[in-house]
Amino acid sequence: MQIFKTRRELQQFALGARRSGKSIALVPTMGFLHEGHTSLMDIARSKADIVIVSIFVNPKQFAPTEDFDRYPRDFEGDRAKCEAHGVDVIFAPEISDMYDGNSSTWVEETILSQPLCGASRPTFYRGVTTVVAKLFLLAQPDYAVFGLKDAQQCFVIQRMVRDLDFPVEIIPAPLVRDADGLALSSRNRYLSDDERRRALSIHQSLLKAKERIIREKSSANAIAEAVASVTAAGGRVDYIEILDCDTMTAPNSETRRVILAAAAFFGTTRLIDNEIFEL
Ligand code: AMP
Repeated sequence: MQIFKTRRELQQFALGARRSGKSIALVPTMGFLHEGHTSLMDIARSKADIVIVSIFVNPKQFAPTEDFDRYPRDFEGDRAKCEAHGVDVIFAPEISDMYDGNSSTWVEETILSQPLCGASRPTFYRGVTTVVAKLFLLAQPDYAVFGLKDAQQCFVIQRMVRDLDFPVEIIPAPLVRDADGLALSSRNRYLSDDERRRALSIHQSLLKAKERIIREKSSANAIAEAVASVTAAGGRVDYIEILDCDTMTAPNSETRRVILAAAAFFGTTRLIDNEIFEL
């Protein structure tokens, strides 16, 4: 396994690999890797000759009030997990290498990125699309794997790729949970035992709401109940909403697939989760 610290090394390697006819799969991450991330690596491994994992806590997607400085980091642990899952290259640049001091260009998706996390974190998705666009140009992937834990992010990236003609296939990967149902997240590290127990209410409420929405063919009461359950468990609900997966607007008679998405704070930790289903 090779470790590249600079954009130049990665891009030279990737262009060389492409010239020699090798296919490349990219897994972008912010590190502190868990089984959600390694499931993406396994999918990448099954798709391409070369698997590249990027580990970069991207300052451009954090607002000044958010957890950039305390975001968990463990490069040695991450390196061992990548090695164990057959990764060929880790790309772990410094911020000063990734962004020249005066970089002033953004890539911005303007529709699917508006609701949910885009409404609560207004500068988040443009940070994500900008860094992912750069990673695509640096790593030259044929495939890029994104987890449906961050389903809106996955849809936004798919739209960016379509709109800007990136020659890359986005592969959405299933959300991986702990045995008790909590969606795996690097941010779970922030939770106390008590907060973690209470946070299980997010997934439980989503499952109950999903059944009720399918049964009642209406979502208002089911969502109100879900908000009440998470609140009763001590969470501060940021949103619980149902949207059409293709348009990220309210479902209508044309809707095929919906996302029932939640974001809630337990203590100071903001967690997200979702269920995607057909109506
Ligand atoms: P992050 O390091 O949180 O930026 O996540 C990097 C990638 O891993 C993203 O595509 C996430 O959607 C994906 N990911 C994170 N957690 C999970 C999970 N529990 N299940 C599936 N994919 C995940």
